Amino acid sequence: MKKAARIDGKAFAARLREKVGEHALAFAAKAGRKPGLAVVLVGEDPASQVYVGSKGKACVAANMDSFEHRLPVETSEADLLALVERLNADATVDGILVQLPLPDHIDEQAVIAAIHPDKDVDGFHVINAGRLAVGQVGFVPCTPLGCMMMLTERLGDLSGLEAVVIGRSNIVGKPMAQLLLAANATVTIAHSRTRDLAEVVRRADIVVAAVGRPEMIRSDWLKPGATVIDVGINRLPPEPGRDKGRLVGDVAYDEASEVAGAITPVPGGVGPMTIAVLLRNTLVAAHRNEGLAPPEGL
Ligand code: NDP
Repeated sequence: MKKAARIDGKAFAARLREKVGEHALAFAAKAGRKPGLAVVLVGEDPASQVYVGSKGKACVAANMDSFEHRLPVETSEADLLALVERLNADATVDGILVQLPLPDHIDEQAVIAAIHPDKDVDGFHVINAGRLAVGQVGFVPCTPLGCMMMLTERLGDLSGLEAVVIGRSNIVGKPMAQLLLAANATVTIAHSRTRDLAEVVRRADIVVAAVGRPEMIRSDWLKPGATVIDVGINRLPPEPGRDKGRLVGDVAYDEASEVAGAITPVPGGVGPMTIAVLLRNTLVAAHRNEGLAPPEGL
């Protein structure tokens, strides 16, 4: 049987990062400064430390300034809010990203609400969620925007296509559904209370899985030829003799490739796009903050 095309997010992300880097140089020539991203990490969560480190390196590689703020786990909410206020007022900072999750004594929503919406390059502020919902210009969360870029490159016009998004989180599922709706797809959002999920997914020309359950979506859930975007990142228990388990998505990749038309792998699919889109959003923020038109086609 014909195998699905592998949607190479890693290669797509590399191309996007290169383009962003070129535009960042052109921006610096006009504005007299580089685009700047401030990343704030509270505490020592190992995964968050890795993410923050790679975001900083990616910024520098894309000709941007990276301002890292690593704060101790006991930092108070008031001190964190005061830092966000300083970054809001700092003209060299175009984007502010507070790495989640925050320690339990800090109210995440209060911190997100404190970020100026025009520096909210993660797109998590309610103002940006509202702008997306009503079709105004704002910032869109990086992961779903990256998924959308891969979908439109692969499929072109999405008008009239049936799309099923599995997962309704504020950072992936809901904004993904809004983007698909804005692109004129017919959108269904499925979640843990959806009845007969396999039957719902079988209708879909486009499936976006953002659940967090290893290999839950099986090949017999898919319509032949469907385009499958797998957002899930799940680590399986280690096999004997290994320290770490394999990373898998929410879709059973091997069997799904026998039915789907195209599919993103895990790793190497959606994951690399997230940082590339963060850089893209920071570049756009820099242009808007300087009153310049953001580059087209990014
Ligand atoms: P959340 O846990 O916030 O949301 C998961 C969603 O899946 C919920 O809406 C939940 O439904 C739904 N769900 C859970 N179980 C089922 C089920 N059995 N059937 C149907 N729906 C179900 O996760 P996120 O949205 O933050 O992340 C989803 C996945 O994507 C994770 O694996 C995460 O690691 C990954 N991720 C990857 C990123 C990347 O860069 N590649 C970035 C962000 C996330 P309900 O609302 O009813 O509880």
